[in-house]
Amino acid sequence: MPPRILIVGAGLYGATCARELHDAGCRVHVIEQRAAPGGNCATRHVPEADCHEHVHGAHIFHTDNERVWRWVQRFARFNGYTHRVKVRHGAQLYSFPINLFTLHQVFGVATPAEAQAVLARERVPIAEPANLEEQALASVGPTLYRLFIEGYTRKQWQRDPRELPADILKRIPVRLDFDDGYFNDRFQGIPVGGYSAMFDRLLAGVRVDFGVDFLRDREHWLARHDHVIYTGPIDAFFDHGHGRLGYRSLRFERELLPLDDYQGSAVVNHTDAAVPCTRIIEHRHFERPEPGRRRTAGHTLITREFPLDGGPGREPYYPVATADNLARLARYQAMAASLVPQVHFGGRLGSYRYLDMHQVIAAALAHVQRVLDTPRHAAVASGIEP
Ligand code: FAD
Ligand code: UDP
Repeated sequence: MPPRILIVGAGLYGATCARELHDAGCRVHVIEQRAAPGGNCATRHVPEADCHEHVHGAHIFHTDNERVWRWVQRFARFNGYTHRVKVRHGAQLYSFPINLFTLHQVFGVATPAEAQAVLARERVPIAEPANLEEQALASVGPTLYRLFIEGYTRKQWQRDPRELPADILKRIPVRLDFDDGYFNDRFQGIPVGGYSAMFDRLLAGVRVDFGVDFLRDREHWLARHDHVIYTGPIDAFFDHGHGRLGYRSLRFERELLPLDDYQGSAVVNHTDAAVPCTRIIEHRHFERPEPGRRRTAGHTLITREFPLDGGPGREPYYPVATADNLARLARYQAMAASLVPQVHFGGRLGSYRYLDMHQVIAAALAHVQRVLDTPRHAAVASGIEP
């Protein structure tokens, strides 16, 4: 008999494993506590605004990994959207991430050489930045730090930027030309028809049960499967025996407005500490009407995003990599290691790591390969009992 594999969670990690293992001949059963697949990538169609709502915040697919890009094309056609963000601070709008146009708006410079000179003057000499504030002061100086980083970071992380690691900022480029793309990756886009349609194709033919919480019946599920891929929070699997891992959560406030276009861009970051939300997304801008088709909706949908501390009852969106949390994580990982090979902890919550979608797919494909290379599973997948 082919191996019986249980996948806990129909998010991107679970769905990627499910597709590959099902196609390899394993008996795959996916259980998902929510009512629909997609995890945090889920979208839903909003007919009044003629667009797909990114239910758990803006999701832009971007990668430099050709294998992952080719793989994901099997399940979606991507619309060529390239992510560009504007910043609003007070009454002013700025180009972002910091580029030559931003430096023109703030300092009046017009060439890369002038931009270089103004940054050299602004930068604070800090040889080894020990925290996010020092990293910002060392790379762009106090004027740009106050305008673009300090307020947003305080709101986003609900912590003083001096208590945050420097490397959070390394995700954001600083450019001396007019390139205002948010990501450097060669491949970008949003699935035409929304992410949820992509998940329907990813899970086609796979047995999926919704509204099922694995943790309610853990022993039942473990006893009936050769291998379990668990993509929920690692601390919840062990009943928080070493204490809860910290997460950051978000509150989304959605509004359907009787306008064609509210802000002219998919994302505007509000970096001013006086404005409580961090960003506003306008979902219609993630999509492009098919050539020759005009938008007919009389409304547009916007979502304001407000950061919240995570905690019981709130969605655990972002792991918070403080020393305390990492020490606790190490204890859970030691417990998880004792369950290998029967249980594998994967995805953003199972590994307690901030992973983008392309990284999640790459990690899931690597795990599937490990499962299929396991002599017992390889033998049973090919129909020969070991
Ligand atoms: P999840 O999507 O969290 O899926 C886990 C699933 O497991 C969930 O459906 C959950 O309900 C289920 N589950 C958990 N516990 C149980 C249980 N006990 N029983 C049954 N089911 C269970 N990535 C990008 O590449 N680009 C972006 O622009 C981007 N923007 C993001 C914006 C926000 C606000 C957030 C939060 C994330 C963003 N990401 C982005 C990251 C992206 O969401 C993740 O990489 C991806 O969704 C992770 O997939 P996953 O399967 O690991 O986790
Ligand atoms: N950031 C900022 N101002 C911005 C955008 C980002 O200061 O307008 C900082 C902030 O600390 C944020 C980090 O850069 O957490 C990474 O930004 P990214 O957009 O990658 O992730 P986010 O945490 O906003 O989802």
